[in-house]
Amino acid sequence: MAGQDYDWASLGIDVTKPSIARAYDVVLNGKDNFDVDRAFVGEITKVVPEIYDVAAYNREILGRGVRYLATEAGIDQFLDLGSGLPTVQNTHQVAQSVNPEAQVVYVDNDPIVLAHGRALLAENDRTTVITADVREPESILADADVRRLIDLDRPVAVMLVGILHHLHDDERPQHVVDTLMNAVPSGSHLFVTHFCASSPEAVAAEKKYLALLGTGRFRTPEEITAYFEGMELLEPGVVPLPLWRPDTEVPAELTVGHRLMYGGIARKP
Ligand code: SAM
Repeated sequence: MAGQDYDWASLGIDVTKPSIARAYDVVLNGKDNFDVDRAFVGEITKVVPEIYDVAAYNREILGRGVRYLATEAGIDQFLDLGSGLPTVQNTHQVAQSVNPEAQVVYVDNDPIVLAHGRALLAENDRTTVITADVREPESILADADVRRLIDLDRPVAVMLVGILHHLHDDERPQHVVDTLMNAVPSGSHLFVTHFCASSPEAVAAEKKYLALLGTGRFRTPEEITAYFEGMELLEPGVVPLPLWRPDTEVPAELTVGHRLMYGGIARKP
């Protein structure tokens, strides 16, 4: 990012520690990151050299999932939690390309997301970005911008894509899911992708994430599936990301990178 010497602290941006949003921007080949974020990613590539591909798989399933939700599931309201910095195939672009009436609220707790999101969304009155913490789902549901764009009496897509693994066990990720899903009506959908303890390399990566970034829980496929309890899990279930309704050929043998994250979508009955 240009201007490493700029007074970022005045915007609440700490350039002395890696941030989740900026480290993700590194692996998506973005420009909104600092030396400290690139150094962190450098450490992760030592245990999972495919980490850049993993980020691409996550963006690809996000696109496929939102397209499914906006078309076949007929959803026109999206609450995208832990949305990250604007990149390619953002939720509102995918959803509004299918249904120009679709409304999207992006939520992230990193101030850099708000700064960049506002610029991207300046002329889109059906989409907004707010700064809030997903660990406080009640205040997100009560937020004035959320209530303006999301009608909680009609089906909502609740997106927790690449974020629940940044909540420690004692931060009660299941409570976050339950609070959000209890607030939305039947026909709403939950969309989750998550780091998975699917290989020794994944377990080594978890150690690095926790030591250097402070978050990054790699949960088992069973633990990730449990987030969807009480809902109708759509085919093919909770699977390695490239296996969720692929639109390109899937390799016969999956690599560590293919299996590093699992994801799925379910419908609230
Ligand atoms: N959802 C996007 C995707 O999958 O492409 C971005 C995922 S990025 C890996 C995770 C995002 O979650 C980051 O932008 C980070 O700032 C945000 N995040 C982490 N913890 C959060 C929290 N407690 N509340 C809100 N956002 C959070």
